[in-house]
Amino acid sequence: MENLSNISTIKAILTKHGFTFSKSLGQNFLVNPSVCPRIAEQGGAKQGVGVIEVGTGIGVLTSELAQRADKVVAVEIDQRLLPVLEETLSDYHNIKIINQDILKVDLHKLIQEEFAGMQVVVCANLPYYITSPVIMYLLESRLPIDAVTVMVQKEAAIRICAQPGTRDVGAVSLAVRYFSEPRILFQVSRGSFMPAPNVDSCVIRLDIKKETPQNILDEKLFFRLVKAAFSQRRKTLVNPVSGSLGVGKPRLKQLMEESGIKSTARAEELTMEQFIQLANGITMLKK
Ligand code: SAM
Repeated sequence: MENLSNISTIKAILTKHGFTFSKSLGQNFLVNPSVCPRIAEQGGAKQGVGVIEVGTGIGVLTSELAQRADKVVAVEIDQRLLPVLEETLSDYHNIKIINQDILKVDLHKLIQEEFAGMQVVVCANLPYYITSPVIMYLLESRLPIDAVTVMVQKEAAIRICAQPGTRDVGAVSLAVRYFSEPRILFQVSRGSFMPAPNVDSCVIRLDIKKETPQNILDEKLFFRLVKAAFSQRRKTLVNPVSGSLGVGKPRLKQLMEESGIKSTARAEELTMEQFIQLANGITMLKK
């Protein structure tokens, strides 16, 4: 197959197959030849590694991954792309395409069946309409993987990688940081895609922690607290947390004080440790 990252090659293939982009499936395909090799390399695709890809498009990133890793299993929801991929990836014998919604794939089973004896990483140019659900699905499933390296919209990258206690932090930042060490790798301009979206993007890498925080008494309650606290992010967290978790305001303010949190604090001012302490205080109260 000729160079897949070449824009005229891509256009010719799409025309030949009569392919039209689906906006609702987040189909903005990469047409900048320098981007996919960087995602593959910085995402950890190399000998001894198996890669899960989410969303193949016509296979530009898939082929770069397959050139470096032992095996690639790519999950693509759009059936119309299957004949295209058959053509574009015909030279590779270490790629398996699964035609399914990534959120419905049993990834533990997939890893067990496809990647025995390999280190596993996830690499993708994510469909933007389900960025957070896909990232949280990958993290919450507690998969035996080393890293998740994905392209997301720049604003989402900033939020996901924000440090607790800073202005950009949100519930998703806390949740991601609970399971991983996130960082922004590099920015990609909107002109690198076809069709070009209205915003720039960033590639982020989440290095999966070997262990999630061990001092949490009730993980579910911790996440409920984080979600409630950020539901009115610019306001003091007392009202939404008191309502959502069913703790009276005076008692909640007391627990906040015991965790070193001002009673007027907003969610974005709290550290991860303070969220954990407050969640544990509420858990104890409910016992
Ligand atoms: N990797 C290709 C590239 O970089 O050119 C395509 C990236 S495009 C942003 C997202 C891809 O994800 C599309 O091919 C789309 O059909 C696919 N997709 C959308 N929703 C999906 C889902 N729920 N499960 C799996 N694939 C999905």
